Amino acid sequence: MSGYRLSKRSLKELDGVHPILAFAVMQAIAITKQDFMVFDGLRTPEEQAKLVAKGSSKTNNSCHLYGLAVDLVAFVDGKPSWEERYYAGIRAAMQEIISRYDLPIEWGYAKWGWDMPHWQITTLEGRDAREVYDIRKIRGR
Ligand SMILES: [Zn+2]
Repeated sequence: MSGYRLSKRSLKELDGVHPILAFAVMQAIAITKQDFMVFDGLRTPEEQAKLVAKGSSKTNNSCHLYGLAVDLVAFVDGKPSWEERYYAGIRAAMQEIISRYDLPIEWGYAKWGWDMPHWQITTLEGRDAREVYDIRKIRGR
């Protein structure tokens, strides 16, 4: 056991996130050697557009809009850190859980060569996951 727990803020960010991804995050925090927070989960199109405008994201059709992505940011000395050296521990914990339960989750950095905090479900039932799961439709808005 890691001794780390998700904060209330992190748990709130998991609201609307696909249960497979939320499950992986909750399992990973229990075994990780590097503390982390759920910095971002579900996003509105307005939030996404702002991130694209400032260059933090490169797409307007992000998995974050559907509840299919989370950003796990290292938590160091009481605050979030994007320093790369903290991300090996988070990655190890997520990969361990993904392998253990054979979960369809991908790491942003492995996929694109950037975006270390980003984890997403790309494919479900052999299709683009965004065609299968959209929390906005599930919630009727
Ligand atoms: Zn992300």
